[in-house]
Formats: sequence, structure tokens, C-alpha cells
Amino acid sequence: MIQGHAHPVIGAAIRERYEKGTHFAAPTEDSVVVAEELKRRWQIPQWRYTNSGSEATMDAIRIARAYTGREPVMKIFGSYHGHHDSVMVSIAGEYEEIGEPDALVSVPYGAGIPRSTVDLTFAVPYNDARSMEHRIEKPTKEGSKPACVIMEASPMNMRLILPEPGYLEAVREITERHGVILIFDEVKTGLTLAAGGAVERFGVRPDMVTLAKTLGGGFPLGAVGGSEDVMSVVKDGSVYQVGTYNGNPLGMAAARSSLTDVLTPDAYRHVERLNDRLIGACNKVLDEFGLPGYSLGLGAKGCVTFAAEKVTDYRSFQANRDTDLSRLFWLYCFNRGVFTAPNRDQEWTLSVTHTEQAVDAYASALHDLAADLAPA
Ligand code: PMP
Repeated sequence: MIQGHAHPVIGAAIRERYEKGTHFAAPTEDSVVVAEELKRRWQIPQWRYTNSGSEATMDAIRIARAYTGREPVMKIFGSYHGHHDSVMVSIAGEYEEIGEPDALVSVPYGAGIPRSTVDLTFAVPYNDARSMEHRIEKPTKEGSKPACVIMEASPMNMRLILPEPGYLEAVREITERHGVILIFDEVKTGLTLAAGGAVERFGVRPDMVTLAKTLGGGFPLGAVGGSEDVMSVVKDGSVYQVGTYNGNPLGMAAARSSLTDVLTPDAYRHVERLNDRLIGACNKVLDEFGLPGYSLGLGAKGCVTFAAEKVTDYRSFQANRDTDLSRLFWLYCFNRGVFTAPNRDQEWTLSVTHTEQAVDAYASALHDLAADLAPA
């Protein structure tokens, strides 16, 4: 989360909320203020709340299915959208089992997922609009086009991959032409790539957006947004989108204070300046010592990808990444007091409380690693 830990403004909002009560099974004013703010940032008018990213993607898919009357779901090879059945298909580590992108077979990730659900989900490679169109046109076993394409505009669990020029525009055009709902899963990209997430950053407008993580500033909160037309299936009661803790007062207080008082234009300028500094410093070390890899990022997000070739999709990530170097770098960071996500496929998120010293410590760990590995 871009707010950092224990931000005093969020802490004060949470304490104030706690004093007033934390559960009424009815919305608080904060949920309206947050929805208005999300509408302003995303130019998407209608929002519903959840408690997690998984719930947000689950609800988005159900809404897309209800709206289109179709059942299949298309996703991107290697992507992660949470732990519910429809998306626990073809995620990291199983590409080889799936075979070629054209193969009409999907593989569940883990036990306990019904085959009938897995069969409704299929995947195509990232950065490949032709494969997407091909699969949309090719009838599934059920003979139906997908209800939706759910994707991260910029995938974040294979380190960080950027869209090639024209890719997202092509995805938008193809999905629109086939009446397929385009869902940008912005659980990670939302509020981090820019104030208005990937939609603002890349200028491509999906039909629906899912949010979580940074939105709650450390509290469990997710959201799903869409046009009035698509969200009408919730409004008219045909999709039951509910939950005891949906829009819970603590999460909403954290989101309200984050959006109105913490994630200001200055905050984004701060993290972007630090991100440029960090990416530049990492690339300098990689170049200087000839380590196989590169650093890139956008907004508050970035990474060092240790790979012989540039990674453009899950397959090239699997084929080229150097897992030994990644593991070693994680340890070099850890031993120098820099704690990054234990899952080494993840990107970094800079926060409003990070400083130049903090990002320099990360680059300096990379320098130590490169120097130790350099031939004597
Ligand atoms: N979508 C994306 C893109 C994610 O990265 C994640 C979590 N890593 C999720 C959905 C699921 O979110 P949660 O863990 O809050 O259920």
C-alpha cells in the first residue's frame, strides 16, 4: 500500500470511527464520499464494496455473467485474481501443463475446484491481442463467447510487465466488438500506477474495475465499479451483491482519509520521484556489473527482473527469469534491513513515507550483490 504503515491521518480517522461504532449493517457516509472520489478518479459512476480483492473479482465476474447472459470467463496466462473457483485456473506454475495458448483445456490451481467451473475459464497470453480475438471467436465447448475478459492492465505477479504499445487499445476494441465485458483488475494497479490507476495511466477505458489493497490503507476493503448500464443488474436486484462486512465502517474510514487526505497529487509526485531514482540506480548497477536483468516501473510500482531476455508475458517470464538471483537478492535486502515481499515474483510499492535513504538502501543491496558476484 502506498500509504505506508500506521499513517497518522488514517490512524486518527480509524480512532474517530471506532468511537462512533463499527458495525451497523447499513452504509456510513464515508462509503458515499469514497464512491464519489472513485467516480472522479476512474470516471466510472457506480461502485459496490467488498472486503477483499477476491470478493471484488468474484462479484465483477458474476455481474458480467448476469449482464451478458454468458458463462465463460477469459483471463491471461499466469495472472492471479484471487482465490475463488472461477479464477483459480491457469495461474503461475502450471503453464506447461496447459500447453499451447490454443489448447481448449484449463487446469485448476489446487484441489477442491469443480471441473465444471474450471471448464468455463480459459486463458490467453498477455501482450497478444490476436490470440485473444482468436479465442473469443473460437466457440468454447459450451459454444459461447466469454462474458468477460478479466485482466491486469499491467500484470504484477510476474514481476511487473508493461503493455506493449497498442495492446490495451486492441483489447478494448476486440472486447467491445464482441460484446465481452472488459474488467481491469486494479487490485494492485489501482491507486498505485496513478491516482486513477491503470485507467488513468494508460488511457484505456474498461467496462468494470476491481480495487482492493491500497484502497483500504491496511484494512480489509475491496470495490467493484462499472457503468450504470452494467451495474443495473445489481440495482434491479438480479445480482445479489451483499456481505455482512461489505463497506464496513473501519475500512471506509481508512479509504476516505486515504483518498481525501493522504493520496494527494503531492503524494504521487513524491513516490514517482523516488521510483525514478530507484529504477535508475538499479539499472546503473545492473549495467555496470553486467548482471542479467533490468529495472522498470510506473507510479509507485517497480521491480528488478532478473532475466536474460525482456519479459513480455508469462511464458517468457518462466523461460528467462533467474530464480537463484532473485532469491539471493531477497536475502541481500533482508540482511541489510530491507524487507520486501517474501514472494519474489512480486513488484515493489513505494509509499508516501519512504525516503531517498530507503530507496538508496535497496539499490545499495543490489550493488553489494553484484559486487560479490563479479569475477575477482
Ligand atoms: N487481484 C489481484 C491482481 C491480486 O494481486 C490479488 C492479490 N494478490 C487479488 C486479486 C486478490 O486479492 P485478495 O488477496 O485481497 O483477495
